[in-house]
Amino acid sequence: MRYFIETYGCQMNKAESSALEAQFQDRLWTRASDAGDADVVLINTCSVRITAENRAWGRIAHYSALKRSRGFTLIVTGCMAERLKDRMKEKAPGVDYVLGTFQKSAFGVVLDAVASGRSLEVVEETPAFVFASSHREPGSFSSFVPIMHGCDNFCSYCIVPYVRGREISRSPSDIVGELRSLGAAGVREVTLLGQNVNSYRWTGEGGPLDFAGLLRLVASEATGSGIGRVRFVSSHPKDLSPATVHAIADNEVLARHVHLCVQHGSDRVLAAMNRKYTSGEYLELARSVRSSIPGITLSTDILIGFPGETEDDVQATLDLMGEARFAYAFMYHYNPREGTPAASMPGRVPEAVKKERLARVIELQRAISRDVMRGMLGSEASVLVEGPSKRKPTEVLARTDQDMMVVFPADASRIGSFARVRLDSVRGNTFKAEEVR
Ligand code: SF4
Repeated sequence: MRYFIETYGCQMNKAESSALEAQFQDRLWTRASDAGDADVVLINTCSVRITAENRAWGRIAHYSALKRSRGFTLIVTGCMAERLKDRMKEKAPGVDYVLGTFQKSAFGVVLDAVASGRSLEVVEETPAFVFASSHREPGSFSSFVPIMHGCDNFCSYCIVPYVRGREISRSPSDIVGELRSLGAAGVREVTLLGQNVNSYRWTGEGGPLDFAGLLRLVASEATGSGIGRVRFVSSHPKDLSPATVHAIADNEVLARHVHLCVQHGSDRVLAAMNRKYTSGEYLELARSVRSSIPGITLSTDILIGFPGETEDDVQATLDLMGEARFAYAFMYHYNPREGTPAASMPGRVPEAVKKERLARVIELQRAISRDVMRGMLGSEASVLVEGPSKRKPTEVLARTDQDMMVVFPADASRIGSFARVRLDSVRGNTFKAEEVR
């Protein structure tokens, strides 16, 4: 039997696709290079923006048409499956199974039914989210490890709490168990994953344990398991505790990088977004992270064009960016998301204005990123080699501890191993470097 998977959206979706793929492989199914050759086609969808859903609808229509001649089973999972559930099958009758957030643990049952030529009328839901035991992408030396699921924050623009449910933390023994098996399988870097990892809280057996405690536990386990670097994402500023900052400072295996989503620089907009911090508090936090962990880089998300946003609000964002000096940022303009409070807020910013404001934000960030990178020239960095360089076959592409991209001369046998390099020059978003021994 053969499968084909298409994944959209965030890192959590990628991790969940890897976990679903493991269930195919446990049953000795093989990956098809083309959907037309598969027995099951799985689309793991995203709901975060309407454009993501429109794209998924396009793919569902494409596979529904292909299925008529090839006869595979079409399964849709992910946030869009949870949001629309039965309405999806009404709109797209070609879809055989729509598996929402709390039905993923029944995925194996669905596969077994497909393999034996049966079809299930009902797919059981679990009362709470169930974490898969492994999220490793076959053959990869880098892996996500989900540590929590869902979100309690209800930022007014965000659909996540509605489609992924309330926060639930994974048990430390499961996390450590996955780390050990990843290390034994040759994984060298893990990224602890959650919508807001800083609010990790385990109160069951072996608890209580907060995120700082988990980081210390993971750091001590990682080294013994052959894992040389641990990252985590995403961090909500309101929950990044001093204890977490100290845990990073004390443990070299924890990467010198925090993705700390600010979203906006105006206190008025931050309040309307329900982010629960001010720009001053954010900047104070950024300063304290930097002074406690020398050499750390910060990156962020910025959402521009929120309802009611004025020119002064945009200026406040540009000012914050100038002070925070992010190494890089993911920058978006706001689009209303049906089912969220912000979608019915007054003061919509016209599309053209949003785009023009976003262009200014991007331009400033480019200049800051260039500056931050120039400030690192001459320094040394620990890098994990990720693959061959696209431009030169004699070079490899690697990522620093600070989450910056580097190319340096080395052969492909180094892929998946660590190296120490000196950052010599900047080419676009990438450093050119030389290995130091
Ligand atoms: S913290 Fe806010 S933006 Fe992030 S997932 Fe939760 S609700 Fe969405």
